[in-house]
Amino acid sequence: MAAAESDREVPSALCTEFLNFSAKDTALKWLQVTDLYKEVYQHLARYVPKIYCLGPNLNPQSEDLLAQLLLQAPLEWYLCGEDPSTGLAKLEQNNQPSQLCGHVFRVGEPTYSCRECAADPTCVLCMQCFLGSVHKEHRYRMTTSGGGGFCDCGDTEAWKKGPYCQKHEPNISDSCQEDPLAHLSTDMIARCYNVFAIVLKYAVDMLTWDKEDELPPGLEPPDRGDTYYCMLFNDEVHTYEQVIYTLQKAVNCTQKEAVSFATTVDRDGRKSVRFGDFAFCEQAKSVIVRNTSRQSKPLRVQVMHSSVVAHQCFALKALHWLGHVIGYSDALRRILCQVGLERGPEGENSSLVDTLMLCDSKMWKGARNVYHQLFMSSLLMDLKYKKLFAIQFAKNYERLQSDYVKDDHDREFSVTDLSVQMFTVPSLARMLITEENLMTTIIRTFVDHLRHRDLQGRFQFERYTAQQAFKFRRVQSLIGDLKYVLISRPTEWSDQLREKFLEGLDTFLELFKCMQGMDPVVRQVGQHIEMEPEWEAAFTLQMKLTHIISMMQEWCATDERVLIEAYKKCLTALTHCHSGFTDGEQPITLSMCGHSVDTIRYCVSQEKVSIHLPVSRLLAGLHVLLSKMEVAYRFPEQLPLSELSPPMLIEHPLRCLVLCAQVHAGMWRRNGFSLVNQRAHSVLWLQIYYYHNVKCRVEMFDKDLIMLQAGASMMDPNHFLMIVLSRFELYHIFSSADCRKSYNRENTNKDVVQQNNTLMEEMLHLIMMVVGERFEAGVGQVEGCDEIKREIIHQLCIRPMAHSELVKALPENENKETGMERVIDCVASFKKPGVTGRGLYELRPECAKQFNLYFHHYSRADQSKAEEAQRKLKRQNGEDMALPPPMLPPFSPLFASLVNILQCDVLLGMLGAVLQWAVEPSGGHWSESMLQRVLHLIGMGLLEEQQQLKNSSEDHDVSFNFTLKISRPGEAPSNTASVLALLENLQNAPHLEVHKDMIRWILKMVASIKTMRELTASTYTVTASGSHGQEEMVCDKDKAERKRKAEMARLRREKIMAQMSEMQRHFINENKELFQQSLEELYASTSTSLEHSPTSSDAALVCVGPRRSRPREKRQVVTCILCQEEQEIRADSKAMVLAAFVQRSTVMSKNRKRPPHDPEHYDPLFMHPDLSFGTHTGSCGHIMHSHCWQRYFEAVQAKEQRRQQRLRVHTSYDVGNGEFLCPLCECLSNTVIPLLPGTKGSNSCEQPGLGQWLKISGQQIKAMHSAHRKLQPVGVDAVEETVEEQCPATENFRIDYTPMSPYSSTIKEMLTTFGTATYKVGLKVHPNEQDPRVPIMCWGSCAYTIQSIERLLVDEDKPLFGSLPCRQDDCLSSLARFGSACWTAASQPSVQGHYIRLVAALIPDPQVETSPCILDIDMLHLLVSVVLSYGSVHSQDSSGLSVDAVQLHFFHLITVAHMVQMLLTSGPEEVTMEQESGGAEREEEEDICALYNTLRTHLGSSLPEVASGWHLWRCVKTGILPYLRGAALFFHHLNGVPTPPELHALCPGQWEVLCGYLSLPSNLLQLYHSQKELLEPLLYGWCSHPGVRQTLQEGGVLVSFPRESNSLIDLPDDYSALINQASSFTCPKSGGDKSRAPTLCLVCGSMLCSQSYCCQTELDGEDVGACTAHTFACGAGVGIFLRVRESQVLFLSGKTKGCFYAPPYLDDYGETDQGLRRGNPLHLCRQRYRKIQKLWRQHSVTEEIGHAQEANQTLVGIDWQHL
Ligand SMILES: [Zn+2]
Ligand SMILES: [Zn+2]
Ligand SMILES: [Zn+2]
Ligand SMILES: [Zn+2]
Ligand SMILES: [Zn+2]
Ligand SMILES: [Zn+2]
Ligand SMILES: [Zn+2]
Repeated sequence: MAAAESDREVPSALCTEFLNFSAKDTALKWLQVTDLYKEVYQHLARYVPKIYCLGPNLNPQSEDLLAQLLLQAPLEWYLCGEDPSTGLAKLEQNNQPSQLCGHVFRVGEPTYSCRECAADPTCVLCMQCFLGSVHKEHRYRMTTSGGGGFCDCGDTEAWKKGPYCQKHEPNISDSCQEDPLAHLSTDMIARCYNVFAIVLKYAVDMLTWDKEDELPPGLEPPDRGDTYYCMLFNDEVHTYEQVIYTLQKAVNCTQKEAVSFATTVDRDGRKSVRFGDFAFCEQAKSVIVRNTSRQSKPLRVQVMHSSVVAHQCFALKALHWLGHVIGYSDALRRILCQVGLERGPEGENSSLVDTLMLCDSKMWKGARNVYHQLFMSSLLMDLKYKKLFAIQFAKNYERLQSDYVKDDHDREFSVTDLSVQMFTVPSLARMLITEENLMTTIIRTFVDHLRHRDLQGRFQFERYTAQQAFKFRRVQSLIGDLKYVLISRPTEWSDQLREKFLEGLDTFLELFKCMQGMDPVVRQVGQHIEMEPEWEAAFTLQMKLTHIISMMQEWCATDERVLIEAYKKCLTALTHCHSGFTDGEQPITLSMCGHSVDTIRYCVSQEKVSIHLPVSRLLAGLHVLLSKMEVAYRFPEQLPLSELSPPMLIEHPLRCLVLCAQVHAGMWRRNGFSLVNQRAHSVLWLQIYYYHNVKCRVEMFDKDLIMLQAGASMMDPNHFLMIVLSRFELYHIFSSADCRKSYNRENTNKDVVQQNNTLMEEMLHLIMMVVGERFEAGVGQVEGCDEIKREIIHQLCIRPMAHSELVKALPENENKETGMERVIDCVASFKKPGVTGRGLYELRPECAKQFNLYFHHYSRADQSKAEEAQRKLKRQNGEDMALPPPMLPPFSPLFASLVNILQCDVLLGMLGAVLQWAVEPSGGHWSESMLQRVLHLIGMGLLEEQQQLKNSSEDHDVSFNFTLKISRPGEAPSNTASVLALLENLQNAPHLEVHKDMIRWILKMVASIKTMRELTASTYTVTASGSHGQEEMVCDKDKAERKRKAEMARLRREKIMAQMSEMQRHFINENKELFQQSLEELYASTSTSLEHSPTSSDAALVCVGPRRSRPREKRQVVTCILCQEEQEIRADSKAMVLAAFVQRSTVMSKNRKRPPHDPEHYDPLFMHPDLSFGTHTGSCGHIMHSHCWQRYFEAVQAKEQRRQQRLRVHTSYDVGNGEFLCPLCECLSNTVIPLLPGTKGSNSCEQPGLGQWLKISGQQIKAMHSAHRKLQPVGVDAVEETVEEQCPATENFRIDYTPMSPYSSTIKEMLTTFGTATYKVGLKVHPNEQDPRVPIMCWGSCAYTIQSIERLLVDEDKPLFGSLPCRQDDCLSSLARFGSACWTAASQPSVQGHYIRLVAALIPDPQVETSPCILDIDMLHLLVSVVLSYGSVHSQDSSGLSVDAVQLHFFHLITVAHMVQMLLTSGPEEVTMEQESGGAEREEEEDICALYNTLRTHLGSSLPEVASGWHLWRCVKTGILPYLRGAALFFHHLNGVPTPPELHALCPGQWEVLCGYLSLPSNLLQLYHSQKELLEPLLYGWCSHPGVRQTLQEGGVLVSFPRESNSLIDLPDDYSALINQASSFTCPKSGGDKSRAPTLCLVCGSMLCSQSYCCQTELDGEDVGACTAHTFACGAGVGIFLRVRESQVLFLSGKTKGCFYAPPYLDDYGETDQGLRRGNPLHLCRQRYRKIQKLWRQHSVTEEIGHAQEANQTLVGIDWQHL
């Protein structure tokens, strides 16, 4: 306890010393001394340990105060040479504020980047600058900052346009760049320099200090005690839980403290966990080390002397101080930069800045953050020193990166993270490349860290350990740096830049050489594969480099000389890779159709093949550039074109493409041997998937294709095709003399046949691509945007797509742009979304003709979807079904010869063969896709010829003569049919129905080309139009045919529809949500039309009282959804039940601050008007036999038990809690409500008036009182029996009579079931069917549910009756009838007891002690409860008193009470209101004044005086309406009376109809005035309740009527406003820390710190996150939140249920952005927000969660309770 003592003593001991201290004197002394350095150090040595670290509990406030007084103040005095408050102000006056904003981002703060003007995506603005910039009108991107980094406003290099916001716009008058130091005196500069040098040196000394028990020279404390800290450091190896557990053991702290320690360690990087003498701390250290060393390396712990810690604390403070002081003046900032970068005595790289950087990885997180911040506000804000700093940074680059790779902190805590601030500045990047050779440095550092090579020097990632994988991940940040350096292309090149870039390229090629051919695969023929191939590392490398490779090419494209040199270097590298390529292999000779070629012997299916060929692909890219930039034509002499060996160029890319084809053909799949085998195959499959995938294809598949095109364009097409055939291992098929005689006749192995067919299809596809893919600028003569247009068209040919889907399907460049926005409107039109779904782009119809079925980026699945969609479109338009190839742009000259592939002999031979096979389909195994491809190729040939003919000038002969070639007979075997003849033959083949349209199209083309050729010379145009006419005739005929077919199709469809409706019932089960709505509407309309058909049209309908209309006697028959049997609803028959869900609710709460009640002792009899907690009952409306349901539920239970035993799978429902899913619609339910018959109307004879009834009622109550007293054990606070009216024994009231329950046993059982469930859920207690509160809870739930439905109807602008879905009608009827019957299942005396107390609230009863005052009673609840409880009293009445009469009396009484309640709470008159309604309601106004004045006589001045009745009557009339409507719903459902048609619409005159239906006078005041004498005493009684006066005088919580419906909170229109709000939100528990997952409660607007240890609390003995905890306080277990960082709505229910829901924020494309990944600006969609609000108001949130969890099982596994 020594620590605690010193804690108390020290300040007082030092007090005098501190008080006598003068900063000014100290500074003056310093000005005199010669060795200032020594003097200041002495000062620090003396004071720092006296201020800092005096005890275990640091008290930063007092420390900071003292530090300011004793340490900073003298420094400031010295610095200014006068009082710092004036000195600093002077400095500030001369300050030239930086034009850079430099605002450093908090974690989670919104940042903005302009997609049009930003130099690269790392250029961002803070919210303030953004709002004041031109970019807010541009296309911008919004993201949330990960912390660190600063606003680039004012940096002219960061923005192509609008670099300044309004605030940072430079002032033109003083824009001259003068030296900031010019304003300072030389004295001042010198002093400043001195102070900064000493303070910075001190801070660097201390932060990089690594001794635990010693201090640097000059800082040794005058007296040192035995006080130590046990300091725990952060690492990324140990989990939070491990640390917490260890700390609890080691330092004996509570879990809470341990959590707080762990949180601080995680945040600051270190935290002292114990303070005391050395031994005490050592002991803790050893426990921690011992406890954590078992699994991994131990946690880092140091025992440090308190003076060391103290100086380190002050060192941080000193850095803060420096940052603060330089904020006053740019001159001071510049001096600090100078001090920091000044070379130290050790020479090169020894400045203080260097020292800090080089020690970065040794420092703790907190220290790093502080000095990084200082760098940002000093070095990076001064343009001159930014450059010098960048040079130092580059010089140290290799060392820093190596340190970082070894370190285990995230990159954001490393100094290397500052690279982005310098490398992205184009001028700096270029300077660093030329002067510091940065490009080479980065690549070399990168290569140095990848040490795993095979014998050929290629990377090898096999046997790759987790540790290496970790390192590999960190090394990847170097690629990021390289990307920054390359991101802006140079506009002009210096020789030096050329030299250094090419040097960098050399290093880059070295890297590529290590990748070329890495990770090769070999097809396994045996059964055994030793180990799983490790492919991810290699592929990650490829993927990460993709953009770099593209950027390198873009750099080359800006300078001819660089391009030529790069091309040469790349070719040399490729040649190097290929050395030894043909060694020792005899070439083989291939010959076909009279051509022959030599090639190497190689089989993809037998030898090694690699998918990684970066050198070849880079060369392909450069080759295209030669063509695009026309270098190839202008400087052919400088190019090594003669060195190119086309067969060598194509060899590896071709192998790679063949590998893909073989995998598709299933050749690499080993039939079901080991798991490893299968995994090997799926790994290969994945690689091929990525090879084609949009993320990689640009630098993989696309470039391989280009390389084939480049190679083929330099070869004889016949040779090229033979080599292709050979690599596809198909050569033997086509080369045989009789290949036309189906090749497969002899081959009986079905698998092999199938494989060959697929390979052939793939090969034909490849030929199409080589000839047809001309949209890369340089390959074909196209513009830059043609390529992207074509991509979009082909995506939209599959189906209309949302913006995000399109973005995903298109390759992004390094700026994350696809270029789509520029062209999308030319090819697509946008359709806006509705309340669900998203906005979609649809293809413009005129673009459909550009559709190419064999588009090279289609996957097979895409292709078939697109084919289907396009055929469907054609059918709809009544066009023929052919999908011919589209017109293509011409090739660039370098690639022009590729078209000859189409008319070469080898291809024609192949085409002929396939057609021949198709003619004789029985003969062999050909495939339709094969034929389809052949037809497509023929179509391409014809189109090419047509194009060339059209474009040729008259005298120029077109050498491309495809029509001639296909008309010639086949060559081998001699004189077989020509291709054309075969086609004509196939035209009528019955088995080729699908291809007929295409063949017809081809033949028409041939005809038209022939005519064209014949008339080439002169009448070309005439022919064209002539052939056109011919086409039309054919068309008409076709149309008629098509019409007939369409009619047939329609008939067929109708037949199918009929069958469909048969199946629908089954279908509904599976698609319930879709159907729910429409079915309900259907039911609702039929049931209303039945019920409300004018039964008694002349007599007005009345729902309550002796005059109430009789319900039509109709037998109610329902069908059980489980056994399908019908059953009549009767009291004595089998029970039928409705699936129901009971939940606690605060949806209507007017007081969310009311603390939850103690469930065991809470008395729920009276509901407070604030409705703070209620119990809601809902139902999906599905009816079952009770016994069927029981059997079903038992089965569910049993299944659940089995499931839990086997594997711990969670379900969306909690069987243990009585939950189940409705067997029909899978709606979440937790109980069932029995269906009961309606009450029969009594034959009303003469009924007593109010006066008489009050008397009867009074007597009955007295009788019950005395009867109940008898039942009570004697002595229990029995009311004194003073009066002798022992048992007045009113005749006709048989108090001893016990009525028989009219219900069958199963109904009785269900009465208990539902009652108990409502009780259990509503009070959150254990079920107890005996508890007297059971019936109260049921009545309450009935009233609450009615109120909630009444509100919903108002909110949705729906009429009171006829608009509810039948499930709600059924639910309300059952609830009301249940309520009136539930007393039969409870003890009669207790129900009567409730009745007595309820009545006593209206009619004061001296025997009831505590009745609430009428201001504290919700009147609808009272009405429902009193009416429903009356049954228990009535059962003993034999006087003929009708229930109806009693209901009416109660209703009138409560209505009067409600009016009084409103008059008491009606606020002061609003003067602005327009008065005088014109006398129509004069009578009401006078009456209400009279009533009000009566109340004033009782209450006096507590009630304000009111001048006119108009205001009062307004208040009462609007206030009472919800109550009247609720009462109408209640009596309608209880008594089953039909409803008046006027209430089925929202027409005027509702008031009168409603009053009539409720048997009320439309002037409600008559209720009072007609019975004044009887009511006067009651009125007096209500007013004299002490609670009334008290509440009125205190002006206490008065709920005013009508109660407004609750809404979800208002949200801002712009989502970034929310992000901003959340970014300044700090965790309420960890002292000003930023919250990681700020989450907004949409119900009450609280911001919470979710998903974090710091804010976990305990709830019923379990740890829960802030959201779950809040849910119980705010929403009675149900919560609706917005996760601000994620832009995601969160629904929670209880502790275990939850789901995510689409947020109400949409971008301009009508899409949400869950996770904020795309960054498009988001705006509130009110419609969607209303939809969420409706779910909430309807109490459907839990149901929604249930459906979501059923649909997506992964949601069930989420740990919702910790959110
Ligand atoms: Zn800014
Ligand atoms: Zn700005
Ligand atoms: Zn802009
Ligand atoms: Zn049944
Ligand atoms: Zn259901
Ligand atoms: Zn809330
Ligand atoms: Zn927190």
